[in-house]
Amino acid sequence: MRKTLSTVKRVVVKVGTSSLVLKNGKLNLKSIDQLAFVLTALVNQDYEVILVSSGAIGAGLQSLGLTSRPSTIAKQQAIAAIGQSELIKTYSQRFENYNQQIAQVLMTRDVVDFPESRKNVINTLDELLKMGIIPIVNENDSVAVEELDHQTKFGDNDQLSAIVSQLTKADLLIMLSDIDGFYTNNPQTDPDAKLYTQINKITADLKKAAGGEGSRFGTGGMASKLKAAQRILDYSGQMVLANGEEPSIIFDIIEGKTIGSLFSNKIK
Ligand code: ADP
Repeated sequence: MRKTLSTVKRVVVKVGTSSLVLKNGKLNLKSIDQLAFVLTALVNQDYEVILVSSGAIGAGLQSLGLTSRPSTIAKQQAIAAIGQSELIKTYSQRFENYNQQIAQVLMTRDVVDFPESRKNVINTLDELLKMGIIPIVNENDSVAVEELDHQTKFGDNDQLSAIVSQLTKADLLIMLSDIDGFYTNNPQTDPDAKLYTQINKITADLKKAAGGEGSRFGTGGMASKLKAAQRILDYSGQMVLANGEEPSIIFDIIEGKTIGSLFSNKIK
């Protein structure tokens, strides 16, 4: 059992597109419904819960009947805008089944750089949590840009979820991925790779195991998970990276069962 998780109260859960959109492009309602159930059950147990959800482009493609992403940024942003409202509609319906209210919070990276924006988003999230509402956070894809002197993109939702955790001083970030945790090497290519059950420092060796820049997983991937974990360790928060195939795994993680990889500097 993981004793360091026994005092957790404020939890951020990050789910990726792979958990929300099926291989055939349709929304994974089983997953979304399970998430709604699990997160509501946690709120009922007096946990404060924030969900960071990807999946807007996937949902947009589905609602337009498209099978692949268009190439232009303008079209992608338009599809994200369509998909975001579809996604929130679906979440609203599912959470309503359990009488749980949700709120949509769309952010750009200026919450990190501009104190007034930062204060506003922290206050909004704090108020929502006080009211027992689950904020569902995503990047505001239609306005985020990547310019030299005007950087408002988070890069990916791994960074977004770590930043949200840091801003709200969350006790725990649960990052759900398509893999059981962080391994000594990529398990897809190395059958002997071993799972790290706990990590208290991001070392050069770990960065090597994650695959450097230019790997197939250039954005997202394990390098980005480690970067997110570093941000969490910097403010003495904790993060568990685990497989999100069955979101009910969140119950076991919160109970402190040894699941996935725990990043924490509270362990020796
Ligand atoms: P998600 O989209 O769920 O956030 P990613 O596809 O970005 O996940 O990253 C998960 C993938 O990273 C795994 O499926 C695995 O193939 C790859 N990977 C590379 N190196 C490692 C490692 N050391 N440990 C675990 N997974 C790794």
